[in-house]
This record gives sequence, structure tokens and C-alpha cells, in this order.
Amino acid sequence: MCIEGITQAQRSGVPHAVCYAVLGSGSSGNAYAFETQGHLFLVDAGFKAKVIIERLQMLGFSLFKPTTIFCTHTHQDHLLGVGELASHLDALVVGAPILLENLLDKFPQLRSWSIALDANYSLSEGGFSTFATSHDAPESLSYLLELEGIRFMVLTDTGVILPPMYRMAYYSHVLFLEANYNEELLQAGRYPPFLKRRISGRKGHLSNEQAVQFLQKIAHSPHLKQLFLCHLSKDNNRVELVRDEVAQAHAGRWQSHVCAHAQASAVYRGLA
Ligand SMILES: [Zn+2]
Ligand SMILES: [Zn+2]
Repeated sequence: MCIEGITQAQRSGVPHAVCYAVLGSGSSGNAYAFETQGHLFLVDAGFKAKVIIERLQMLGFSLFKPTTIFCTHTHQDHLLGVGELASHLDALVVGAPILLENLLDKFPQLRSWSIALDANYSLSEGGFSTFATSHDAPESLSYLLELEGIRFMVLTDTGVILPPMYRMAYYSHVLFLEANYNEELLQAGRYPPFLKRRISGRKGHLSNEQAVQFLQKIAHSPHLKQLFLCHLSKDNNRVELVRDEVAQAHAGRWQSHVCAHAQASAVYRGLA
């Protein structure tokens, strides 16, 4: 498969390509966009709907296609804009039962698709699998999406790596991996002890060191082509640290991008 960074003018004219970008990641909000010829898919919509629409437009994504929003868990940095955005775009919202129950209380008209853990589902563009994350939110999960033959895995908001994650990441072409905090910055920082324990605990977030260890285990993957390091803490991490500690650890094996806190990435196009 081939991957390239593209400009808006280069978007059209290539059949069966998937255009994708990180709209933003970190504790201020998380959203990922994937566009095929006939469909727009989002994973999470944790900014205000207005901000997500602005970023989609800025990056050249179409707001006039059927849209599906995959939701990972109930924290506001992932869920904040889902209801309003889905209402505005008449999108289908995919998520675990508790998340959808909460959302439908506030937005009863939403179209929803309740999914199970460790399950595989078909889409006309491919399909998706769900897997559990170890996080302090009920029924917290994430996704491996296969769109037009390209496999995208979103792996953030988990305190530990669970065995199925290795296999899924190994088979992914594009991996969005959490590098939330640098251990020294977290321990020396201003957060109260309970919050430090929460972040670094089994149901918290992945550190730079955990991200490196995970990548070591999947470094021999013949599939993985591109890595986005995501969900960086605003206070306990820095882009340069993630570049030095994580991205450099496997430089040359795959394209690496470090996503600055809450900022959108460039747009990429993948062709299977
Ligand atoms: Zn979370
Ligand atoms: Zn989060």
C-alpha cells in the first residue's frame, strides 16, 4: 500500500483511496477523520461540533456524505461534540450500550448502532473490530477500522497494553498510538497525587516508555507503514520529548508523526 501527504487539490480523481487526518488529540479533545469515495467516518468527536466542522472543512473533508461516528468511551474529550455533530450531519453513531444510552437521553433522535466488545462488523467499505481498553470509563473500547483495504487502529486511553492489542497493531497499516506522558514530568509536575496515580495507573493512559515497549513488540510487522503518536498531555509531555523518546526509537521503519496537543495533522491519502 502507498501513503502520501496531500493537498486539497490532490484529493479527487483517485479511486478507492482513503483520505485521513487527526483533527486533534489530547485532553482538550480527540477526533480522527477518514473519508472514502462514498462515506465520511469519524472516530470520536471530543471538540465542540462547531470546531470539528471547521477543522473538517479546513482540511478539505466532505460534509455532504453519509457519516458514521465511532465512539470509544464516555469521557468528554472524546464525546463532547458527538450529539450535536451527529444531529447536524444526520450521522450514525456507533458505540457501547452505556455510552449510547447516555447520549440518547440528551439526543433521542440520533441514529445509533450499539456494538459489543471483541466483535467484528462489516461495512460496505470493509469492516471494523472492537477491542477493550483498560481505562476508567464504563465499557471503554476502541477500534480497528478496515476501509478500502487499509487497516487503521486507534489505540489511546488505556493504562496498559492488553494481549489482543499486539495482534491488531501488527496487522494495521496505520496506527494512532497514545504517548500521553513522560514519567519524570508527571511525577515532578503540579498534579495532586491521586491524579498522578490515576494517569499512570492500569486504567489511565500510556506513557512514552509504554509506547516504546509496545512498538518494540510489533517492530517486525510487515504491514505497519505509518505511526501517529497521539493524546499527548498538555502538562506532562512535549512534542520534542515524544519525538526523541518514541518516534526515534524506530526511525526508518515507518513514517512517524507526533500530534501536538489539540492540533490537527496534515491530510494523508492511503491507497491499498
Ligand atoms: Zn479517557
Ligand atoms: Zn482521552
